[in-house]
Amino acid sequence: METVVSGIRSTGNLHLGNYFGMIRQAVRMQAEYNCYFFVADLHSLTTHPKPLDFQQNVKQVLVEFLACGIDPDKCTLYVQSDIPEISELYLIMNMLAYKGELERVVTFKDKARKQPDNINAGLLTYPVLMAVDIIIQHADKVPVGKDQEQHLEMTRNYVKRFNSMYGVNYFHEPLAFNYEKNLIKIPGLDGSGKMGKSEGGKNAVYLMDKPEQIRNKIMRAVTDSGPEKPNSTKTDAIQNLFALLNIVSKPDTVQFFENQYNHCNIRYGDLKKQLAEDIIKFTTPFREKMEALSDDDLYIQNIRKQGAEKARITARKTLEDVREIIGIKAK
Ligand code: AMP
Repeated sequence: METVVSGIRSTGNLHLGNYFGMIRQAVRMQAEYNCYFFVADLHSLTTHPKPLDFQQNVKQVLVEFLACGIDPDKCTLYVQSDIPEISELYLIMNMLAYKGELERVVTFKDKARKQPDNINAGLLTYPVLMAVDIIIQHADKVPVGKDQEQHLEMTRNYVKRFNSMYGVNYFHEPLAFNYEKNLIKIPGLDGSGKMGKSEGGKNAVYLMDKPEQIRNKIMRAVTDSGPEKPNSTKTDAIQNLFALLNIVSKPDTVQFFENQYNHCNIRYGDLKKQLAEDIIKFTTPFREKMEALSDDDLYIQNIRKQGAEKARITARKTLEDVREIIGIKAK
């Protein structure tokens, strides 16, 4: 059976981008693959969270994973920092990663532009830690959104480099995965780019948002002054609203607004109202489950412990093999 690995950083509540980019695939893959899903809490350290917030954020992502249908009886669900082998393999793999290639990574350049006062080395080597998350479990497939495509390519490069440097055929090359043909990018509400946790609260619709918050956010989403000619090309902002409509609304609803747009009689207010209601319908069951699970600390703690025990079995073996291959440990 093929192995699957994927994680989500504990840097805030999960949004529609996380759901459609990763979680929806993950839930389906549990039944078909040997799956490892984790909370990427070490990755969140690049943002310097306060110690008290750190644990709360980890718990929140665990709760959200479970509420969305990640089932610890069907997969291994764990927290990255509970697997110390990841940190050691990260150190080792950092020796194979070069500054020039890391500086060319789009997500690094993006973050460096947005947070010029906090361009730390962890941010630069994010793709190395991500590669380690994947290869320590020998993953074949990695369900991720489009934003992670380049990181997967780098993971494959590190695999090839490791194998060739040490003359082995030890790690194999993982592939980014989506059940549809292409990886998905869910757009943000500010008219450009992707929906993201770090793009500011108004850009993202969180699965935890209450109906009123969703209505407010959607009604404030960026639009334009409307099409002037029939069948005009949509601006990015409008394209984004239609992209969201496409994922949560019925096909005939989408078609209805497409027709209105193409005939230049669209009222964006109506489209937004419909979109908000369809998102609410979609996210309400998740929110209710999250609220119910949030109080059950013991259950969450047990799941976390069991997941760590399972994930460490493979992680320990991989690290032992690597220590032998590179000569830290005598054969
Ligand atoms: P992150 O929140 O950056 O840790 O991302 C966790 C997962 O969600 C990764 O697989 C991302 O590719 C995916 N993801 C995050 N934002 C989006 C988005 N706007 N569209 C599609 N997938 C996304």
